[in-house]
Amino acid sequence: MKKGRFALCAAACLCALCLAYAVRGGRPVWQVFSAQDTPVTLVLDAGHGGFDGGAVGANGTTEQHINLCIARRVRDLAGLFGVPAVMTREDEEALDYVPGRSVRENKRADIQAREAACRAVRNPVFLSIHLNKFEQARYYGAQVFYSGNNAQSRPIAEAIQAALIAGIPNGNDRKAKQAADTIYLMKRLDCPALVVECGFLSNPAEEARLKQSDYQTQLSVCIVSGYLRARGGLTG
Ligand SMILES: [Zn+2]
Repeated sequence: MKKGRFALCAAACLCALCLAYAVRGGRPVWQVFSAQDTPVTLVLDAGHGGFDGGAVGANGTTEQHINLCIARRVRDLAGLFGVPAVMTREDEEALDYVPGRSVRENKRADIQAREAACRAVRNPVFLSIHLNKFEQARYYGAQVFYSGNNAQSRPIAEAIQAALIAGIPNGNDRKAKQAADTIYLMKRLDCPALVVECGFLSNPAEEARLKQSDYQTQLSVCIVSGYLRARGGLTG
């Protein structure tokens, strides 16, 4: 998407949310977000990258680039609301890759680097962006998974899930679910932590939408508005 269009879309979203906020009254969003002395920082983790393309769609789309596009939009939109946000990866590369190591070793090093990036942040909320895949092509729709290690994870996940369903009315009735123990970062991190699976690359129609910049922006608006609502910045 051209920058101008993103700004326009983001501005429209900002106006709508600010109006809701003004109606509600209260403290500015950035104060509401100071759960402790240190403001909450969103740690945005664009899944995969570099040697690891992630899931591959029916038409050959890999998730790593789309994850990055969505994470960047979430960062920019969060910034408009004064929510500090950092990225685990800013570009198409993996966080830790050494030629000659096995894929397994590189994947392990990369995921550990993501954990370290989150642990380096004070008062983080970890939000990982991925795309889903299943054997049968008919399944579609965004779904949020949360870590069971921190009680704050679930309400954030449920608010983002609700925002995705309200903001993208395509019949998706998925519910936020606790992540399986096999997901390393959800098992390891003890801060609020979630994975947003933004859709299924194995569904050709959804694969096509996920590649569109307007749809990536729509997803990011839903993610940020759900997050803001969960953290008490917005109600209604
Ligand atoms: Zn993934």
